[in-house]
Amino acid sequence: MQRILEEIQDEVRPLLHRGKVASYIPQLADVPREHFGMAVHTVGGEVFQVGDADHRFSIQSISKAFTLTLAMQLEGDELWRRVGREPSGTAFNSLVQLEHENGIPRNPFINAGALVVTDVVLSHLAEAKKTVLEFVDSLVAGEPVSYDLEVARSEAESGHRNRALAHFLKSFGNLHNDTDAVLDAYFHHCSIAMSCSELAEAFLFLVCGGHVPGRDQPLIRANQAKYVGSLMLTCGTYDSAGDFAYRVGLPGKSGVGGGIVAIMPGHFTVAVWSPGLDPSGNSLAGTKALELLTTKTGISIF
Ligand code: GLN
Repeated sequence: MQRILEEIQDEVRPLLHRGKVASYIPQLADVPREHFGMAVHTVGGEVFQVGDADHRFSIQSISKAFTLTLAMQLEGDELWRRVGREPSGTAFNSLVQLEHENGIPRNPFINAGALVVTDVVLSHLAEAKKTVLEFVDSLVAGEPVSYDLEVARSEAESGHRNRALAHFLKSFGNLHNDTDAVLDAYFHHCSIAMSCSELAEAFLFLVCGGHVPGRDQPLIRANQAKYVGSLMLTCGTYDSAGDFAYRVGLPGKSGVGGGIVAIMPGHFTVAVWSPGLDPSGNSLAGTKALELLTTKTGISIF
């Protein structure tokens, strides 16, 4: 596995300059495109990594998998009254579908869906921002995980589309809390800074039937872990989910910070980071790296 990761790092190098760094969040615009990191954590506790795998970056929408897991813990299937489970086929921050579908977002991984999930979390937890951070932090050993307050502030100042989505949801009665409170929590979740190695570690519960390795009580039930994984496969990379599934063959969740986490149930988790994005907002070299991983190892869910 180590040799394969090193080969992948060499092979994707020419792609690092092809992607476009997310600039609509000003604080992310200056991240150098040269970065590349990749980490694999196996269910047996082995860790393989290359490049900038220990460098923390903005996890952005990867956080949506954490908040969905929390919402499932807190609310179970009730959640599906307010958000769908179908791929959107539209951009992650699109407004058009929401009007057609009466304020019920297609899935929990597009921004509109994640805002509803955040609203659910806020309704259940008195100190939601603190609790979400503690939840994510509890999934990784080592240095405490934290919010990048500069990134959160930068997105709060420039996040007009998300504000529009939140108010639109509110107009349909599908946000129960104050829109500013939901947006504030959402921007903070997106600003969490983690490394590839930490992300791969944090997602292990999804390849272990909902169990965090070494813990007695499962985080979520095995069928709920299946649900999160299935949604990652069908919706985790937005309007590229079909192409991502075709090329990579693993459920994945991306973020505009350039990170992608993918899971191989029963075997391993993998996280990759390269800030240059493709037009759908997924890491360009990162997607290629994951495609190479499943091609070279011959391991995918198919
Ligand atoms: N915070 C970002 C936004 O809401 C997250 C988007 C993403 O990572 N795809 O636009």
